[in-house]
Amino acid sequence: MLRKSLMLFGLLFVTACGGDEASQGSAENCAVAGPVEGRALRIVTTVAPITSLVAQVVGDSGAEIVGLVPEGTNSHTFEPPPSAAEVLESADVVFMNGLVLEEPTKDLAAANASSTATICELGTAILPESEWLYDFSFPKEGGKPNPHLWTNPPMAKSYAEIIRDVLTKIDPVNASTYAANFDLLADAIDRLDDAMRQATETISAERRLLLTYHDAYAYFAKHYDWTVVGAIQPSSFDEPTPKDIAELIEQVRVRNVPAVFGSEVFPSSVLEQIGKETGARYIDVLRDDDLPGAPGEPAHSWQGLMRFNFVTMVEALGGKADALKSLDLVPAVRDTAFYPQ
Ligand SMILES: [Zn+2]
Repeated sequence: MLRKSLMLFGLLFVTACGGDEASQGSAENCAVAGPVEGRALRIVTTVAPITSLVAQVVGDSGAEIVGLVPEGTNSHTFEPPPSAAEVLESADVVFMNGLVLEEPTKDLAAANASSTATICELGTAILPESEWLYDFSFPKEGGKPNPHLWTNPPMAKSYAEIIRDVLTKIDPVNASTYAANFDLLADAIDRLDDAMRQATETISAERRLLLTYHDAYAYFAKHYDWTVVGAIQPSSFDEPTPKDIAELIEQVRVRNVPAVFGSEVFPSSVLEQIGKETGARYIDVLRDDDLPGAPGEPAHSWQGLMRFNFVTMVEALGGKADALKSLDLVPAVRDTAFYPQ
């Protein structure tokens, strides 16, 4: 079993890197030194959607999980508290998104983690640099690609595969638990993906338009063939300039964008203004890293978060979200992550 897992792990690298020199070094960061024996694994994660994916693969294997970025926080500007150094010091594995999302946390991990710890940047590992997307909020000259791979279900499944393979290598005793939990999660992700495709079919192609405040749907839009009209948040995370706003208003008018989307984490008077001036509906409830429902409930999960946002977007654009709403989110999501202060 272990041998098979290791082989799969090796194959994954070949697939993930595709011979791309630029991404190979990063993928190698997910290679692990050796198994941890005789005690429970200590896992550290960053943003809540990734913490949820990790928690679902970990299940009841006994591992401890600490999520460093509290839900509903701006993860792009998050600075870990001093107490995180201690948490990172004892970690066996740190799962991060990568793609330059969590540099302060990555620096703290590099300075404090043990030399045998695995620091795994999931996004950087699965996506060759040639496929990184840049846009208004994440311009190429800024050096930070759009990091939101996890809003695209197939990419979230690739994250979960790496999580399973890394955990299997570090903790082979629980290999069958990780394999079974991954299969359940992969099935949930596939069903969400199918439902989202069905929902997309109910929106006419010229209305599959996204104008969001926070630019979290670049890879999602590419996958489902939606168009990102724009994002309002500049790369500085400050407010956009009057010129930027005028251009967005023009775009919304020209393309007849039905709705514009804000989020709880980034309330925006600018979107409200764009809505008023163009007649587009302003929907201000998208969630970035804030899982719906209460801890322990099925909705308080990566798939619960995706479903909430997908339903919100589909319905606001005039589509039908029945396929998404009728999904079974898979209960028994483990919810043990906590956040150091
Ligand atoms: Zn974000």
